[in-house]
Amino acid sequence: MRTPRLASVAAAAAVLSLLLSACGGDSGSDVAKVDENAKEQFAPGSRMKELADAGKITVGTKFDQPLFGLKGLSGQPEGFDVEIAKLIAAKLGIDEKGITFVETVSANREPFLEQKKVDMVVATYTINDKRDMVVDFAGPYFSAGQDILVAKGNPKGVKGPEDLTGLKTCSVSGSTPASTIQTKYPQAELVLFDNYTKCRDALGNGQVDAVTTDNVILSGYVDQAPDKFELVGKPFTEEPYGIGIPEGQEAFCDFINKTLAEAQENGDYAKAFESTAGKVIKNTPKLPTPPRGCDK
Ligand code: GLU
Repeated sequence: MRTPRLASVAAAAAVLSLLLSACGGDSGSDVAKVDENAKEQFAPGSRMKELADAGKITVGTKFDQPLFGLKGLSGQPEGFDVEIAKLIAAKLGIDEKGITFVETVSANREPFLEQKKVDMVVATYTINDKRDMVVDFAGPYFSAGQDILVAKGNPKGVKGPEDLTGLKTCSVSGSTPASTIQTKYPQAELVLFDNYTKCRDALGNGQVDAVTTDNVILSGYVDQAPDKFELVGKPFTEEPYGIGIPEGQEAFCDFINKTLAEAQENGDYAKAFESTAGKVIKNTPKLPTPPRGCDK
């Protein structure tokens, strides 16, 4: 068990300028280049060596979030989180065929890591103290912020979380946005589902007045149906995304951070973003630095 400490992602701007393009949609990319000599590079007994020797890795991700993790007709999830997972796998010498993507909804990310059902989670996963008590985090690799999605035309005039008072506000069990509403904006009438698509659909058919979660997730839903939804566009939290791994794998955490730093350096991080979320979110971010460190 590690000492809880909040990751300070100080200057990492939660305020992303979200410019929605007319046409979007995810697609896979071939950014990740598999390191054929990976096996020889890792110390015997290390987690990296185990994974490299197995030639397989199981990754928890979202299956219903456009831009970051969306399983479409191809049967394989696509998005920025998926590309980040592929970059890490490639450094372990594991190609796409060796990656098994498992759906992790918000509430089962910690349990899946604790039960070792997955080797890592890349799933719009905010680093925070509570989670850090039971899992470890590499990264952050991205910084989002909580925002609000409303019906087109914003019929209830929602300008920020204060305006959610008395409004049916949908979010997801086990997520940080849900707990922010519960603790800071209890006047909102919180409705919980297990994934954000259900919230989006509830907003679409008028069962709820608003959906709240990270701006980049909501942007994906606006991109899919710009005639139905709009984003309030004023993020009010910082959501630094980390890569969750089981506790006690510090060398693996360091390896992931090194892989991310290299990807920033050689352009793969930008390519991973631009081929996925960047089709809608026009500002390509830089990898937040410094990494929070794996010794916490
Ligand atoms: N980033 C937030 C979280 O980890 C919201 C997104 C999500 O639920 O995946 O809880």
